[in-house]
Amino acid sequence: MDKILEVKDLVVGYKGKNGFVRAVDGVSFDINKGETICIVGESGSGKSVTSMSIMRLVEFENGKILDGEISFKGESLTTKKADEMRQIRGSKISMIFQEPLTALNPVFTIGKQISEAILFHHKIGKEEAWKEAEKLVRLVGISDPVGRLKQYPHELSGGMRQRVMIAMALASEPELLIADEPTTALDVTIEAQILELLRNLREEKKMSIMLITHDIGVAAEMANRIIIMYAGKIMEIANTFDIFEQPLHPYTKGLLESVPKMDGQRGVPLKSINGSIPSLNEIPEGCRFSPRCPFATEKCHQEAPALETRGNRQVACWHVDYLLEHSLLDVEEEG
Ligand code: ATP
Ligand code: MG
Repeated sequence: MDKILEVKDLVVGYKGKNGFVRAVDGVSFDINKGETICIVGESGSGKSVTSMSIMRLVEFENGKILDGEISFKGESLTTKKADEMRQIRGSKISMIFQEPLTALNPVFTIGKQISEAILFHHKIGKEEAWKEAEKLVRLVGISDPVGRLKQYPHELSGGMRQRVMIAMALASEPELLIADEPTTALDVTIEAQILELLRNLREEKKMSIMLITHDIGVAAEMANRIIIMYAGKIMEIANTFDIFEQPLHPYTKGLLESVPKMDGQRGVPLKSINGSIPSLNEIPEGCRFSPRCPFATEKCHQEAPALETRGNRQVACWHVDYLLEHSLLDVEEEG
């Protein structure tokens, strides 16, 4: 399969009092052409830092890519100069964020902002760009495009604003769309609509999508493959079907058990994973998940397991074989 993005041994740090703390620590994965990959993990696991590194945006908030390699269609992004990176950012790779209001300019109409995005990428006239903006707005499922383009961001609902952001991200006809929690600020019905829109666009535009979410249920609906991240490291990578059929990492099992079942009885309390994600200054020795892991042994507390390949999946856990043999990774239905 054609790889569009390759990330290898990525280490990203932020300057602290005692040098750099590592928000992402040795992460490797790739994305195939036309594939949707979801990165799932609790808050603080390094999902956003990973995506901002691909866009080389970490440098703007005193972060630094300390090690590793990111390449897009075989071309290194890590060594690109700032102006070369500007060419790629927002054109071949586009990104949409969680809160669309902060990303839109309040003093310009929607039409002006989308057509500016189009003009930035295409050598056409203003009028033609406005027509293109109408097409894009229609494509993302906004009715009355002519009227909508004359409105200002504050006149639109959250869901509409997110659609506008998606339209702007599409203006450059990107080959890779990175969406960082694009639906977390929206209510569930609007969330479902936006996810459906992304699925349709993926079919129509044959884009690759990297979707970041803390909700493994969203990943189930969207992803071809799922990457499970915890405290700056990847715990598991597998096809979506395989992850749900049989998680291989205790953390994945924990995430799956904290999801309400669609047909689940209401009022049944959800299980949650004990404890919380460590701060970057207190990363535990050994496996980072070991302090919260019900199966951790002495070895887990001392030595970090590498992400190892098993068939077509990858997992970082010392005890996969034992846990599998004793059915300890089977997801327990709540209730
Ligand atoms: P969330 O689900 O809350 O968005 P996340 O998985 O996206 O979480 P990141 O934002 O990638 O988490 O953060 C990973 C770690 O990096 C966190 O511990 C965070 O505090 C740290 N971090 C992120 N940005 C900065 C920054 N600008 N300066 C210092 N530390 C940062
Ligand atoms: Mg984030």
